[in-house]
Amino acid sequence: MIEHEDFLPYNLPDISDAEVDAVVETLRSGWLAPGRRAREFEAAFAAYTGAKHAVALDSATAGLHLALVALGVGPGDEVITTPTTFAATVNVIIHAGATPVLADIRIDDYCIDPAAVARAITPRTKAIMPVHHAGSACRMDEIGELARAHGVHLIADAAHAIGTEIAGRSVGAIGDAAVFSFYPTKNVTSGRGGMLTTDDDALAERCRLLALHGMSDDAWDRYTARGAWAYQVLAPGYNYAMSDYQAALGGAQFARIDAFQRARRRLAERYHARFAALPAIITPLERAGTTHAWHLYVIRLRRDLLAIGRDAFIDELRACGIGTSVHFIPIHHHPYYREAYGWAPGDFPAADEAFETMISLPLYTRMSVDTVDRVADAVEDVVRRHGFKGA
Ligand SMILES: *Cc1c(COP(=O)(O)O)cnc(C)c1O
Repeated sequence: MIEHEDFLPYNLPDISDAEVDAVVETLRSGWLAPGRRAREFEAAFAAYTGAKHAVALDSATAGLHLALVALGVGPGDEVITTPTTFAATVNVIIHAGATPVLADIRIDDYCIDPAAVARAITPRTKAIMPVHHAGSACRMDEIGELARAHGVHLIADAAHAIGTEIAGRSVGAIGDAAVFSFYPTKNVTSGRGGMLTTDDDALAERCRLLALHGMSDDAWDRYTARGAWAYQVLAPGYNYAMSDYQAALGGAQFARIDAFQRARRRLAERYHARFAALPAIITPLERAGTTHAWHLYVIRLRRDLLAIGRDAFIDELRACGIGTSVHFIPIHHHPYYREAYGWAPGDFPAADEAFETMISLPLYTRMSVDTVDRVADAVEDVVRRHGFKGA
């Protein structure tokens, strides 16, 4: 499409010299594998979320898969999740050998609807996997109550949710486990990586074992003063542990988490203010009593006020040099899942409506308030040109 000299991407990582130095120092240290730096990152993350344990992993996908396997979810079991998510959320259910079951979202916050979860529960349900979409807190009280009443596990896909809180509590301390992502587009990056948090001692221990091939002692313990060459394989595990060169970047990034979250909130608030007088644009909801992590700033278009569709709206913004994205193409729209599970577009009306009307606008810590204004000006201009009366 149109190449703009100052094309504005919808997302950019924010890497400081201190973070580059931390990685270089690790590369020169002689220890790149899972070790001390991963342990330090875990300790900092556990302290931040208030969870008893944090387990550093190679990706959030690995963490979600581990949580399911470690909790004994397997063939014959059903796992309930949302259609408005990334493929990984559903793929790990399939990799565990279980059957994914979708429950529709709420149109106000794009998170799974507890009422739809209640309808989807069967005697085969083994776990519920809500996704804190864009950093918006799911209704964990209601979902947790359902999980307890039916004796099923609650595993949160918290890939967007570093900074998401409910009643002042991190979502990392809610449910059986929560899994965060450090993919380059997320609020904190380790280049690639994830973190599983849990208060459950046995679950944390099982995840650590399975993350390093099922070996009784990890490599750090074996090759340092504490350990010897010996190990025992106690389970057929995976190669899912976070390496120290990843932890060096992730840990140094995480040291700036409060500044990151303040910057994101400031930009989101500027968007809110700019769109307050624009009825055609539905701004994201931060539910009372919750803290939004502002991983994404997702707007929706009011179809009744606009003569332009979502795709054309995105094209117009791109022509102005503004990058956007859509989170997400619903699970039930993809060929594989449609064929495997018999789903089709239209099956989950709120997820379908959100998909048809949502746009993720640029939001990242290196962005200035002036740049938010540039995006808001462009959105406003498209609305003025394509809006009906009152748009
Ligand atoms: C990014 C993302 C994941 C996967 O995270 P990785 O760390 O890349 O494995 C899972 N779920 C959601 C909702 C995501 O956005």
